[in-house]
Amino acid sequence: MTHTPGAGRTSPFDLTGRCAAVTGAGRGLGQAVAIGLAEAGADLVLLGRPGSQTATEKAIRELGRDVEVVDLDVADLGAVERVAAEVTRDRQVDILVNNAGIIDREDAVAVTEEAWSRVVDTNLTGLFFLCQAFGRPMVERGHGKIVSIASLLSFQGGLRVASYAASKHAVAGVTKALANEWAPRGVQVNAIAPGYIATDNTAPLRADADRSRSILERIPAGRWGDPQDIAGAAVFLSSAAADYVNGHVLVVDGGWMAR
Ligand code: NDP
Repeated sequence: MTHTPGAGRTSPFDLTGRCAAVTGAGRGLGQAVAIGLAEAGADLVLLGRPGSQTATEKAIRELGRDVEVVDLDVADLGAVERVAAEVTRDRQVDILVNNAGIIDREDAVAVTEEAWSRVVDTNLTGLFFLCQAFGRPMVERGHGKIVSIASLLSFQGGLRVASYAASKHAVAGVTKALANEWAPRGVQVNAIAPGYIATDNTAPLRADADRSRSILERIPAGRWGDPQDIAGAAVFLSSAAADYVNGHVLVVDGGWMAR
């Protein structure tokens, strides 16, 4: 996605004329990222479960951007291939943000095969086949950006989250593997590892006063992250400013990992 001076873009972060597809954009990080991309000038395709993206769609329309809402359960691999083919037949998608994800907090000794598969199918297998389906035309065209939401648990083990940590470690691995394959074809594949961000995902941690306090004490920035903190990183990695960034997992954690 080469930054072309005079092509209507005023800064390397400007996404005017680009189309970005974001999974799970109805709330939390996905919503902030989708709106952030729209603020940077992108048109959006919101991929998510039926009825979940209405507020995000409205916010993007109010910014004057084009937005299409497409029903998709990212864990349904048949649907991933079909939906990606339909979306990319009608329009060029320049940016894919893999945000949809779930967590299962459970003692390792009690994790069932069904619960394991639900997490891995959503966070990893669906993500890979989204990269494949949306990445194929990017590779053919010779430009595109893929940004996946990884986690601090792409590097650490966490507590009572074995399936999540496994899936997020693998997201980092897939990111690097695809970056190696596709960098020569002009497609940048990167990820963001958010720290502790205040969303529904982390509500149980924040509801536990002791756990919440001990987490906060370890964050040098002295606060939980806001979804907006992730939006800026997503805009950067989706933009021409990141044309020479390949296979990177960008930690955005208020300094947690620096401790
Ligand atoms: P939320 O629980 O607030 O939102 C999750 C989003 O993913 C929702 O929009 C949800 O849709 C969507 N989703 C889940 N499963 C599917 C599916 N099968 N198909 C389509 N959409 C789906 O979580 P966050 O916003 O906090 O998390 C977003 C991403 O960031 C996840 O990948 C998470 O692992 C990651 N992350 C979050 C951190 C945090 O501190 N919050 C830290 C590190 C990583 P619906 O509304 O329909 O349920």
